[in-house]
Amino acid sequence: MTQILIIEDEERIATFVAKGLKAAGYATLHARTAREGYDLAIGAEPELIVLDLGLPDEDGMSLLSRMRGSGVTAPVIVLTARKSLDDTVAALEGGADDYMAKPFGFDELLARVRLRLRSEASVDVSELTHGAVTLNLLTRRAVVGGKEVELSAREFTLAETFLRHPDAVLSREQLLSQVWGYDFDPGSNVVDVYVRYLRGKLGAERIQTVRGVGYRFVADS
Ligand code: CA
Repeated sequence: MTQILIIEDEERIATFVAKGLKAAGYATLHARTAREGYDLAIGAEPELIVLDLGLPDEDGMSLLSRMRGSGVTAPVIVLTARKSLDDTVAALEGGADDYMAKPFGFDELLARVRLRLRSEASVDVSELTHGAVTLNLLTRRAVVGGKEVELSAREFTLAETFLRHPDAVLSREQLLSQVWGYDFDPGSNVVDVYVRYLRGKLGAERIQTVRGVGYRFVADS
C-alpha cells in the first residue's frame, strides 16, 4: 500500500487530509512536529510527503532542505497558509514538487497527490468516463459527447467529484468539503450555483436534484 506522510501540527487539517487519503486507498502516517516528521521521512520511507510550512519547532522550508540533504527523494507537496508568491517560489526551489495554499479542497490535493505519485510510478487512471462525459485528470480537460467543453478549475473539480461517485447521492456538505475545502461557510449556496453552471455545460439531465439531500450524477442518461 502506498504510504503518505503528513507533517502538519494543526490537528483539524491533518485529520481532514488523512481521512480523505485513507478513503482514496492510501496508508497515512502523521507527524505533528518537524522532528517527528524528519524521523518518519527517514525511517518509514513514505512514497510521498505532505508538508505544512508552519510547524511549531522548525520552519517547514528548513525541514525540507534537511530531508533532501539526507537523501529523502519522495515527492513533497507543501501546504502553506502564506499567500505570498515568494514563499511558494522558495518552496519549489527548495525541493518541493508542488504546493497547496490553504484553504484547499480535498479533491484538489488528491489530484496533485495522484499526479506526483504517477510521475513516480505511472500506473493510475488518467481519465474518468461515464456515459458521454470524459474527464482527463492530467490535462484537466472535459469532453462531452465528443466535444471539448471549457470548465473552470472549480467546475472541473466538482465534475470530477461527481464522476468518482456515479449514481451516488452527494450532500451539499460533502461537495463543499470535497471541492471548496474544510472551512467554507456551510450556509453558502455556492454548491447550488456551481451545479447550475455544470448542468449548463454537461447537460441538465446528468445531475439530478435529490430534494432535501443533495445531488446525484446520473451515469447513463
Ligand atoms: Ca501549521
